[in-house]
Amino acid sequence: MSVRVVARIRPLLDKELDKDVIVHPASNDDGRTSNVVKIPNPKNESEEFSFTFNSVYEQATSQEQLFTAEVAPHIKSLFQGLDVTIFAYGVTGTGKTHTMRGGLKLADRGVIPRLLSGVFRRAKKITKDSDGETSVAVALSYYEIYNDKVFDLLEPPEKRTPSGLPLRAEANGRTVVAGLSERPCQDVRDFERLYIEANNNRITAATKLNAHSSRSHAILRVKLTQITGDMVRESTASAIDLAGSEDNRRTENDKERLVESAAINKSLFVLSQCIDAISRGDRRIPFRESKMTRILSLGQNNGITIMILNLAPIRSYHLDTLSSLNVSSRAKRIEVREIENEVVFKQPPRTNSGSGSGITRQPLRP
Ligand code: ADP
Ligand code: MG
Repeated sequence: MSVRVVARIRPLLDKELDKDVIVHPASNDDGRTSNVVKIPNPKNESEEFSFTFNSVYEQATSQEQLFTAEVAPHIKSLFQGLDVTIFAYGVTGTGKTHTMRGGLKLADRGVIPRLLSGVFRRAKKITKDSDGETSVAVALSYYEIYNDKVFDLLEPPEKRTPSGLPLRAEANGRTVVAGLSERPCQDVRDFERLYIEANNNRITAATKLNAHSSRSHAILRVKLTQITGDMVRESTASAIDLAGSEDNRRTENDKERLVESAAINKSLFVLSQCIDAISRGDRRIPFRESKMTRILSLGQNNGITIMILNLAPIRSYHLDTLSSLNVSSRAKRIEVREIENEVVFKQPPRTNSGSGSGITRQPLRP
């Protein structure tokens, strides 16, 4: 299956009501919205460019509609052992954080809290249906990548080391953050508490640096462990709110901001290069050139990947919108292998060796 790329056009904000709307979903003959986004050619406004996606969500789309259509169906796959990655891409101010985190009111809640609710609901059902024979554990990690450095958001900002946490390649080829904390999470309230605390850490850290959180990539990792007898199945859902993809060369930036924006632009630039290289079928993909692309490893990980392209419909975003439409429409061509994670078996503790987690990998069926 390919990476699924969907576009979401946000509504006008109160202060934008008099602005010129230039980004439209194309409509079919029957008046229904199609999967095409239209935008004028900035060099010749009588001409329009069209970009096709797997789905296009127009301004009036609610949080619930987006979640139900794009994320809810994959919760089942997650429990079947597939990894699920959802990431929001777009210019600052287009609705990435609104889409992923959302507001506090029930109807405004974004993809992340809804995903967690869905996971806990299914976990409960599985435990009940199996008469307690299957147990499900949920653990949370949350970190940001800022200036190509990884910081744990579940730890207070005072505990940050200037160089951040290193990445490590696991035997299965996956890249993980070494030394990242992981907190068990029993229910939605547990999650909310951790998530709010972590987002406050993100803001505090950014304020100290005189920066803005839209300049870092925020990555939430939900680890699911299902245990039935001696069988252990692990899978991971990742929800990523990427830094703004705007071209900072066009905006005025002081020196410090330029260092920052060079690092942000670099990782997003590397991402677009990876997308290009993969969609061309190149053998060498420049993943290793930034931490964000190493972690995202587009097309390398097994499972399901959904890219949400957030768009603001007004003219002041014109060139940046065009560039993010270009990058994301190429991402559709990326193939992802839909393979479940191996089931592993717990082993009885060995008497002559004190090492190891007591877990060994074995094929499910010989
Ligand atoms: P980003 O994270 O991409 O910088 P935000 O999520 O902060 O953008 O959104 C910018 C502003 O637009 C915020 O005030 C947010 O509440 C509002 N907004 C974004 N998407 C929507 C939406 N679908 N419906 C209503 N308001 C939205
Ligand atoms: Mg944001």
